[in-house]
Amino acid sequence: MGTKKERTGWDDQELEASVDAYLKMLGLEHSNQTFKKADENRLLREGPLSKRSASSVEYRMQNISAVMEQMGMSHIVGYVSAKNVGTGIGNRIRKILAQRDIEAFRKEPTQASQHFTYRLLEANTPQFSDTPEGILNPNKTSSAAIRYSRARWITDWVLKHSRGFCEGCNQAAPFLGANGSPYLEVHHVKHLAQKGSDRTSNAVALCPNCHRRCHHSNDREAFTLELYTRVKRLERE
Ligand SMILES: [Zn+2]
Ligand SMILES: [Zn+2]
Repeated sequence: MGTKKERTGWDDQELEASVDAYLKMLGLEHSNQTFKKADENRLLREGPLSKRSASSVEYRMQNISAVMEQMGMSHIVGYVSAKNVGTGIGNRIRKILAQRDIEAFRKEPTQASQHFTYRLLEANTPQFSDTPEGILNPNKTSSAAIRYSRARWITDWVLKHSRGFCEGCNQAAPFLGANGSPYLEVHHVKHLAQKGSDRTSNAVALCPNCHRRCHHSNDREAFTLELYTRVKRLERE
């Protein structure tokens, strides 16, 4: 069944919508808030997944659980990991997850060599004339498709604005990403899982070390406070 579904071709927008809905639910679960899987499923099918059945959306969510598990992340309790995630679909889901700030969901810190949180600056990043407005409350937005494309602008803007320097330690990005751009990761200073906004006033470009420091160090709170003084555009939420 799984492979057949893959051949029917979920496009990137459908997969991104699934991943974002998944992360929204996981965020709610992490902050002990309730949500109904069935409602989220229906919402997706009323929007970006209008071509899909309830059971295929459910199955996709189980795929995402499986990939999260492979990445060392916790997953939504209600979505048991699907056993047979095709490599193609698994890789695509992984790639999308790697573009999101999911560090807050990591089960436990891993070694630096096991990085996977790639957020590569795309070659065709648009030119920004103004600071994009962003989203005050990403969890509350109902129009999934619009939210995702706007959210992408925020990460692109933040990466571009950094000019390749970590906003935590001011060092140059430690290496170039696969596309040749300086490798930095976008971090939400108040985590999305804690209802932080997806705006440039809540997002910074960090080197992998500083990013891990924000999530896992024993001085993460003090380090986070320093970010607010160091990066002028940040606003406390
Ligand atoms: Zn740094
Ligand atoms: Zn982060």
